[in-house]
Amino acid sequence: MSTRTLLRDAANRAATYLEGIDSRGVAPTPDAISALARFERDLPEHPLDPSAILRELDETGSPGTSTSAGGRYFGFVIGATLPAALAANMLATAWDQNAGLVVISPTTAKLETIALRWLLDALHLPATSAAGFVTGATMANFTCLAAARHALLERAGWNVEEQGLFGAPTLTVVVGDEVHVTLLKALAMLGLGRARVTRVPADAQGRMRADLLPPLDNRTILCLQAGNVNTGDCDPMAELISRARAAGAWVHVDGAFGLWAAAAPKRAALVAGVENADSWALDAHKWLNVPYDSGVAICRDRDALRGATAVSAAYLVQGAEREPCEYTPELSRRARGVDVWAAMSSLGRSGIAELIERNCLQASRFAEGLRAAGYEILSDVVLNQVLVSFGDDETTRRVIAALQADGTCWCGGTVWHGRTAMRISVSSWATTDQDVELSLAAMLRVASWVLATH
Ligand SMILES: *Cc1c(COP(=O)(O)O)cnc(C)c1O
Repeated sequence: MSTRTLLRDAANRAATYLEGIDSRGVAPTPDAISALARFERDLPEHPLDPSAILRELDETGSPGTSTSAGGRYFGFVIGATLPAALAANMLATAWDQNAGLVVISPTTAKLETIALRWLLDALHLPATSAAGFVTGATMANFTCLAAARHALLERAGWNVEEQGLFGAPTLTVVVGDEVHVTLLKALAMLGLGRARVTRVPADAQGRMRADLLPPLDNRTILCLQAGNVNTGDCDPMAELISRARAAGAWVHVDGAFGLWAAAAPKRAALVAGVENADSWALDAHKWLNVPYDSGVAICRDRDALRGATAVSAAYLVQGAEREPCEYTPELSRRARGVDVWAAMSSLGRSGIAELIERNCLQASRFAEGLRAAGYEILSDVVLNQVLVSFGDDETTRRVIAALQADGTCWCGGTVWHGRTAMRISVSSWATTDQDVELSLAAMLRVASWVLATH
């Protein structure tokens, strides 16, 4: 079989998969999951035919997926993939460029520079900021915090990249009580320690209490959050950042999905002042709806980011242009910026704002419909996240399990301020208002059934 025929087959199967999403359950069936056992065989002794490999991947693999590429997946914070981003990703995969160096891949280096400029523009962040395209917000947090560590220790006369942390001046890290676990993981990997952070209490919405901020100094990294994974709410940026800056502290914002509020005029007030921070971690695979994996580490101070991540070796040719590998932990990597460029091209400024706003209105519609049926919404819905309780914890757990088995849509559970809740996250371009009504009807039907039968 020719490569052309094989790629056509792959593209056809991908399109058939996407077209079929609405007519199957959102979660894979138990049978589909059991069938994955068919993959379990030993390494083939001899080459297999590529078209047979693709057929098996599709026939056995496709049914075992969650349809998070469709419009009714509301678990975690999961975006789908915009058609333009998917298609660009497929072509860029065929290019097989190593996006780490300009000399290997002029096209991807150019597109990443442009995608970065557009991101800063859309999010109203300082236009001179530097950034690296990384796997997601976990690595974006890691990269930004490495830059913070570099800058604060450099000011104290210590070169952390050369000398390491043993014997270094002490840094203090301040986080909110609702800090995301991946930010703590980044601190752990950087030798800053998850247990030696100072935690600031949060309010009822999970926002850092500005009135309880400890004294800060120029050896402090203050970590703020835009987009609490449960409530969607954001720390009070303007006040916290101005106090931190006055003290000479470094402000890092974990804005995995919430930072996108800055791109939607009706939601931007939630993160007002965020542009005054020093670094920002952003996901593209969540709300920008590009394929996994894709995040961006953005840093106001170019030298701090390069100081933490740049390498030099005689064979790595340096030119006049931005070298992508000088801004990321990786050297060789895929061209994530191409997907970001394609997604932003296909949406435009107005499309990005519309996507964010539409998902937020859809979240509000879920809250309104559930509340009208007598169920309790556990926090104010200010962005794209909804927390609902169907009664006691056991009842809520039963409703979540029954909803997942029903297959119309998929939501996960969480514990919010001691209570079990179902969490609805609306983060997909593919979610139509009709998807919301269908899913809401399924939630109400399943909840009534659970309440009637237990
Ligand atoms: C999702 C999320 C992360 C982790 O992002 P990944 O892309 O999964 O690495 C970090 N912080 C917040 C607030 C998130 O919502």
